[in-house]
Amino acid sequence: MATSLRLQNLEVPCDTSYDVIVIGGGPAGCTAAAAAAREGARTLLLEASGCLGGSGTSALVPAWCPFSDKERIIYAGLAATIFARAKEGMAHVKPTDRDWVPIDAERLKRVYDDLVTGAGATVLFHTMLAHVETDRAGRVTGILTANKAGLRAWRASVFVDCTGDADLTAWAGGEFQKGDAAGTHLMPATHCFVLSNVDDYAFRHGPAVYGATPNGPIQRIVASGKYPLISDLHCCCNFVGPGTVGFNAGHIFEVDNTDPASVSAALIQGRKMAAQFRDALAEFHPQAFGNAFLVTTGAQMGIRETRRIVGDYVLTLDDYLQRRSFTDEICRNCYYIDVHWAKDQIVKDKAQMAQWETAGYRYNPGESHGIPYRCLTPHQLRNVLVAGRSISCEQLVQGSVRVMPVCLAMGEAAGLAAALAARHSLADVHAVDVGCLRARLREEGGYLP
Ligand SMILES: Cc1cc2nc3c(=O)[nH]c(=O)nc-3n(C[C@H](O)[C@H](O)[C@H](O)COP(=O)(O)OP(=O)(O)OC[C@H]3O[C@@H](n4cnc5c(N)ncnc54)[C@H](O)[C@@H]3O)c2cc1C
Repeated sequence: MATSLRLQNLEVPCDTSYDVIVIGGGPAGCTAAAAAAREGARTLLLEASGCLGGSGTSALVPAWCPFSDKERIIYAGLAATIFARAKEGMAHVKPTDRDWVPIDAERLKRVYDDLVTGAGATVLFHTMLAHVETDRAGRVTGILTANKAGLRAWRASVFVDCTGDADLTAWAGGEFQKGDAAGTHLMPATHCFVLSNVDDYAFRHGPAVYGATPNGPIQRIVASGKYPLISDLHCCCNFVGPGTVGFNAGHIFEVDNTDPASVSAALIQGRKMAAQFRDALAEFHPQAFGNAFLVTTGAQMGIRETRRIVGDYVLTLDDYLQRRSFTDEICRNCYYIDVHWAKDQIVKDKAQMAQWETAGYRYNPGESHGIPYRCLTPHQLRNVLVAGRSISCEQLVQGSVRVMPVCLAMGEAAGLAAALAARHSLADVHAVDVGCLRARLREEGGYLP
């Protein structure tokens, strides 16, 4: 039973030493913090887990979505730097590889550590946003965090919300949407995992775990009925290191990452699912997985969507289909609309789903669309920017812009904009000179044709 409790005599220490505070150290938060610090802002990055990288490290997503539009790298600037450093030392990855490159999560954590601290930002791990204070003008006047030192308040000129779930924006009273118009049908979650002691040769040259062949290992596993948690809806796997394969496999439905009970149940289910995958693959693909060992599941659940802020502009499906450009765009995107359907959509709308798959919503080589700065600015809040998978867009478009290369590119723009806004006493992100922002992004190598 939930009741309420008004705390008496709660006085906490308050730190005012930062210009910009970034909350959430996923791909978007890392580039946001690095860009803000590089621009001279005193920058703090707060991260709930014990490492940077978000879904690409804590949730063990095993591959980068394409960095190129099939002609050139379009997620440039800091995104391209991170991508290049992440590939170094992966013996089976060439420096020139651009699309669907596997991720060595341990290496990637260090790449982000070095990028963020090297730029001069301070990082606090195991520190969770706990509360947000907003004044009547829509200005965040302070935040509270919780960590092993207890509660602490922070004031800063600008806050960048890179929590993926738009926690800061929602708690500050900013408008948001979640799922479809009715607030339902969130894309399913996936609990990624890693198998080691895999036979490299059989994995790379034997039957695909999940491919076009109707009688592949996953189809036979499902047909056997022995592994009830495994379906043939989703199974991607990548060779991430010697004898080591990362799996982005299986769907867990109706998970809401903003509901701790929901995500806790999903993590318990996901760990069982990963164990079933190991045993099933050992039985049905013994050449590659006969001796495989389940090393780890993600420390975090793989969450595809929760809240999307309502910004000064909402990027629409039509913008995506028209490959639209914007005068205030801060990056380009070419990734296809990659929607994983909610459970009842799969059952009810099989025909529509088949049509969707063939309609494709995939771009031709060289095509891309712009992402306006206005998608990063919550329309009711003065000193808050948002980057990452919770930017202002329609639900279907989120299926495209949510992936890591795009998040890296938007994060850099948000961090730079935060630093520019913080130079002015009003620190209004809506008043940032977008021409200046775009010019600085270009100087730093950003792709803004
Ligand atoms: C199963 C799955 C498979 C995917 N596959 C791919 C793929 O193959 N390739 C690809 O490029 N992308 C893929 N994606 C998409 C991509 O990984 C994410 O959408 C992307 O990482 C989002 O970046 P982000 O920075 O917005 O948020 P996240 O990566 O989610 O990072 C958010 C960070 O904020 C922290 N945080 C959250 N709330 C708080 C708080 N209140 N206080 C402090 N810290 C907080 C979290 O701990 C986390 O570190 C996949 C996603 C999923 C879920």
